[in-house]
Amino acid sequence: MAELETIIGLEVHAQMSTDTKMFCGCDNDAFGKAPNTTICPICMGHPGTLPVPNASAVTKAILTSLALKGTVNEENHFDRKHYFYPDLPMGFQISQYDFPLSSGGSVSYVISDDSGKKLRDGTCGITRLHMENDAGKLTHRGATTLCDYNRAGTPLMEIVTEPDLRSADEAVAFAQELRRILIAIGSSDADMFKGMMRFDASISLREKGTKKLNPRSEIKNLNSFKALEKALKYEEKRLRNEWKKSGGPLPNDITVGWQDDEEKTRMLRNKESADDYRYFPEPDIPPLKFTKKDIEELRKQLPPLPQERKAQYTDMGLDEAQAMQLIDQPDLQRIFDAVYEKTGDGKRTSGLVLTQLLGFLKTQEKSIEEGPNAAGMLELITKIDDGTISGNAAKDVMEKMIQTGKSATEIIAQEGMQQISDDGAIEALVRQAIDANPQAIESFRSGKEAALGAIVGWVMKESKGQANPETVQRILREKL
Ligand code: ZN
Ligand code: MN
Repeated sequence: MAELETIIGLEVHAQMSTDTKMFCGCDNDAFGKAPNTTICPICMGHPGTLPVPNASAVTKAILTSLALKGTVNEENHFDRKHYFYPDLPMGFQISQYDFPLSSGGSVSYVISDDSGKKLRDGTCGITRLHMENDAGKLTHRGATTLCDYNRAGTPLMEIVTEPDLRSADEAVAFAQELRRILIAIGSSDADMFKGMMRFDASISLREKGTKKLNPRSEIKNLNSFKALEKALKYEEKRLRNEWKKSGGPLPNDITVGWQDDEEKTRMLRNKESADDYRYFPEPDIPPLKFTKKDIEELRKQLPPLPQERKAQYTDMGLDEAQAMQLIDQPDLQRIFDAVYEKTGDGKRTSGLVLTQLLGFLKTQEKSIEEGPNAAGMLELITKIDDGTISGNAAKDVMEKMIQTGKSATEIIAQEGMQQISDDGAIEALVRQAIDANPQAIESFRSGKEAALGAIVGWVMKESKGQANPETVQRILREKL
């Protein structure tokens, strides 16, 4: 039998990070809110209501298209895509069909080993990017199904790739790089735990050297990189076994579902075609038109993309793994960037954020969201820089900030941790130190500079770390 080649293409749905939904003014952040509380007659599809496209969503989708090197189409249409399911209150989804927001583009990705070392790179073509609204969420409990429509009407970008990926590993590396781009652009928070980025993966086989695309199996609704990887590996193996048995590819396109708990795919149906969806132009929304000038203005607003950011971080003295850690964790990146802006010192910032902050969060088993935010960290750093506390005491303050959720100012006041910089108070301590350490004084006077450290250490211990070590040094030298 000829050698077989695996062909993979993805459809990615990413929730856009806008304040309001795609076609109405409802709160777009429904996470953790009571069911059916962020809805209105528009996103519920009540008769007589009219959808109005969200300008911020359109802008973010254009920026994303440009970051993916796509061509933004100057004329855009919305279309109705029909299917009947209880999660879809309107009975159709407002999507884009033959005049999508953008066409073409590509994403370059890197495949690394577990230690972050680059193994090889690749590129995947982008077919199109279009905007649409999300459906609600169904929860099945035995024979009962609960409907929560908070998510209905949330703005989505659907990004469709060319069938350029050749393995599950390539698909995952591409998807991770795409996620980084969305985060860098600020068009999606792409939080996988909150289901903000979901994949449908199409996979087929063909004999190596042939060009024809065979019927594919489309795996629906993969909500994590792990699921994407496992589902593709499973389906690839299954299709290869089928090929061996039948001597050829699938007879027609099929749709399968990934069963996360059983780690296998299950046949859902023969794949629906565009005809099944009865697409037709959305009569309530006029076509959107962009001029070349509009598009070029937006291109100028593009922030640095992940590979560029990575280079900036390594220039600051971070290693590649640290740089990727920041790029992959936007909450952490925000804190790091704010601290760097204040200190202008990559090493110091990395010590404060990547070593201390992450270290304390880890020992206290807390997430970045549960720790101090950027403003909280800056307040702490101000207290170090203006001499209120020493760098050492700052570590204790940070640990307590994470424990209690209180601010640096509150903790310093409560625990009486202010650094003693007052000359009078320190002089008294230094006098005691001279009396208590005659041997060390003797060796310092006979020329052993290192002995001074022992005396300073005594003062620091006596003051419970609150004496300003520089003031101690200065006064000690004056006295001796
Ligand atoms: Zn609404
Ligand atoms: Mn879609």
